[in-house]
Amino acid sequence: MNYCRRCGSKLTLVHGHVYKCQNGHTIFNNASPASCLWIINDKKEVLVAIRGREPGLGKLDAPGGFCDGAETFEDSIARELLEELGLTPDNYTKPQYLLSDVNPYRYEGEDLVVLGGAFYARLIGNPVITPQDDVAEARFIAMTDVDPDMIYFNEVRASFLRLRDSGIV
Ligand SMILES: [Zn+2]
Repeated sequence: MNYCRRCGSKLTLVHGHVYKCQNGHTIFNNASPASCLWIINDKKEVLVAIRGREPGLGKLDAPGGFCDGAETFEDSIARELLEELGLTPDNYTKPQYLLSDVNPYRYEGEDLVVLGGAFYARLIGNPVITPQDDVAEARFIAMTDVDPDMIYFNEVRASFLRLRDSGIV
């Protein structure tokens, strides 16, 4: 960051994530929140998304994405699952927390930090799943058949391992 978002004057790095501008505004360069949801069915399978765009094109992912504006993790999950898969909150149980983690994320040449919150839920019924947006494909795969090394984001991989090894499924 080079300039103050409040007044446009030049920023000086104070320490870590804290900047001060020439007019005394303090600017915090905090992480961007994101969330994801692992949906499991009664056959011990997990809904895995294939990424349809960079970064990580073709790699595995959990449905989810960035929190927009003032969204909570739960708001973001509900919106993303609808956008990416056509699933509404009636199609899965209330998301349960797994873990959070921070990861670097390069976007348009800028290195951002993402704070990811990972959740899981159980599928309700047999809804039609329609991959769209940045998901190329989505399918249920047996937990034991998912190769964790194919999961693109570190936080998403860590949450998959937590779910797989927790005895929840
Ligand atoms: Zn300023």
